[in-house]
Amino acid sequence: MDYAAGRELIKDLLAQRFDDNADTILSAEYLDSMCRMYYDLFMRKIMPFHPDFKVETGGRRDSRSAGKCVKKRGGDYVISFNPHALLHMSEEDRVIIDGREVRGLIDCVMAVAEHELTHMAEFALYGSTSHGKRFKLLGARLFDRSPTALTKYRTAGMIDAEDNMRQSNPYKVGDRVVFDAPTYGEVAGVITRIVKRATVIAERGRCRKGTKFYVPLAALRRLD
Ligand SMILES: [Zn+2]
Repeated sequence: MDYAAGRELIKDLLAQRFDDNADTILSAEYLDSMCRMYYDLFMRKIMPFHPDFKVETGGRRDSRSAGKCVKKRGGDYVISFNPHALLHMSEEDRVIIDGREVRGLIDCVMAVAEHELTHMAEFALYGSTSHGKRFKLLGARLFDRSPTALTKYRTAGMIDAEDNMRQSNPYKVGDRVVFDAPTYGEVAGVITRIVKRATVIAERGRCRKGTKFYVPLAALRRLD
């Protein structure tokens, strides 16, 4: 299956039926058509039965969640899209959704639709869904998702911030460091975790071995 060609075909079919503006693209009618085209082109072959689903729009203005898929008690699925979150996302220069870089509103919406349809497929096939290994492999099979990519969307700004953080932080887990602890004086230890501060487990110093410290990165010196 040529996934890129399949996506282009869906875009062409949508362009024949709908206007190309944000209000239309974010309408339930458009999103419903998109999901049904995806089902027919990408999913039908591997699904043992056709799950009933409907598509809705809604969600909070300040939500970062662009979509969700819920199974109703009667057995059908509701896939909902949050137009506010999708619009925000599409205004970024670059967005990575489940490992694939997308630009512009339609491509963002399509990547989110693929994510939610993967949830529906996983639920229909296995009775539950999460962002685990099974979800990723199913996404790879259905939509050529990278099976190892993070299941999240990240913007270019977020990626740059992470890169900067990595560059400005010369330490990594496992490094041996020394620092001056308030009551113990100089303590030597090993880094076990880094978030904003490093978690250092003391190995030497006037504190008990194994004492845990949370140390600002700037206060660490490398122990060579
Ligand atoms: Zn999800």
